[in-house]
Amino acid sequence: MDYFFTASMDDSDIVIANALNDEKERQQNQIELIASENIVSQSVLDALGHQITNKTLEGYPGTRFHRGGKYADIIEQTAIDRACELFQCDYANVQPHSGSQANLSVFLALLNPGDKILSLDLASGGHLSHGYEANISGQWFNSHHYLVDRKTGILDYEKIELRAASVRPKLIIAGGSAYPRQIDFERMAFIAKKVDALLLVDMAHTAGLVAGGVHPSPVAHADIVTCTTTKTLRGPRGGLLLSKNKKWLKQLNSAVFPGIQGSLHTQIIAAKAVCLGEALRPEFKLYTRQILSNAAQLANTLLDCGIKLVSQGTDTHLVLLDLSGTDMTGKMAEDILESVNITSNKNPVPFDQKNPGKWRGLRLGAAAATTRGFAEKEFKEIGEIIAGLLLPSEFHENKLFLDAKRIVQKLCQDFPIYQK
Ligand SMILES: *Cc1c(COP(=O)(O)O)cnc(C)c1O
Repeated sequence: MDYFFTASMDDSDIVIANALNDEKERQQNQIELIASENIVSQSVLDALGHQITNKTLEGYPGTRFHRGGKYADIIEQTAIDRACELFQCDYANVQPHSGSQANLSVFLALLNPGDKILSLDLASGGHLSHGYEANISGQWFNSHHYLVDRKTGILDYEKIELRAASVRPKLIIAGGSAYPRQIDFERMAFIAKKVDALLLVDMAHTAGLVAGGVHPSPVAHADIVTCTTTKTLRGPRGGLLLSKNKKWLKQLNSAVFPGIQGSLHTQIIAAKAVCLGEALRPEFKLYTRQILSNAAQLANTLLDCGIKLVSQGTDTHLVLLDLSGTDMTGKMAEDILESVNITSNKNPVPFDQKNPGKWRGLRLGAAAATTRGFAEKEFKEIGEIIAGLLLPSEFHENKLFLDAKRIVQKLCQDFPIYQK
């Protein structure tokens, strides 16, 4: 008996082998503009596919519940040390299985069920795990929100301060997944202090930009910072907890394990260590600088072509198109772009309706295509294609569609991913 199933996947599981191969081709042949995606390095992939996945460990380096953890301990401690160096903090936990789990562990550590939290509203760019009614954070906590300014699409700190004073939350959360601008973390900390609340900054989208030094860091201002290692940080799927000091070490560590998780995903911890090591290299700074120029180029091209943007532009990797005033919904826009191999996602714009089918926003991000090697010239081309396809008078013209398809195809050929 071959208990070890040594045959290759091509021979033993053609369904999954084919789907994986097709996915590889899809990634090669499309332009990825989903703001939460990126293209990880071959070293990150190698770590993810490593047999260290066989290792079961609970607890933290030096205090494990299982034997055989010598090498995994080296890896986890290295990941912790690199996270602390990269983000200039004294505490890091690299075990959260995702960004949502990282947030949940903060809630478990700091809050009791029913406590008040105050976060950015979902349509203003917030995240599901920040107190949205369908999420555990909205069901178990008394959740309140602040909004962006209706006219500018930008955070109004005076209003946030008033809201905080009337709600008096135990925890204020800053950060989101569709807010294209910088957040004044110092001001948010001031607001939190004034009402005696703790401040959590969730920098899931911007962690890579912070690591590269092209975006302000929240670490000195927030009590706790969470993020994902995906998105701009360009690592595996997973989360991190960070703090400038060790004040919450015990509570946070026991909230992650045994609070909400069991054993660590050793292969992911290895991949996180690799990604954090990459982000410490000087080339990563250049990469993040290029992301910002590319996103700015994309935003300016779209504006020049007559597309409305939430907040009229971007300070980050992210651009949010506002399709209100056109015939198009976000869903229609994502369908049209997908038909020419550009991948994006529908999103609410501020004060949008609840029904995702009617959302008027389309969210784009520059991180993945920048990894691939696209620079301003390519982003200008992409912006023109998108505007051409989405502008009401032109989008159904057949020639435009065929041209767009051909240009995307050529760009993808010229900038291949995963050469080996
Ligand atoms: C993406 C994101 C998360 C969630 O990350 P998952 O790993 O998908 O759970 C949390 N917070 C914010 C602000 C995000 O953008």
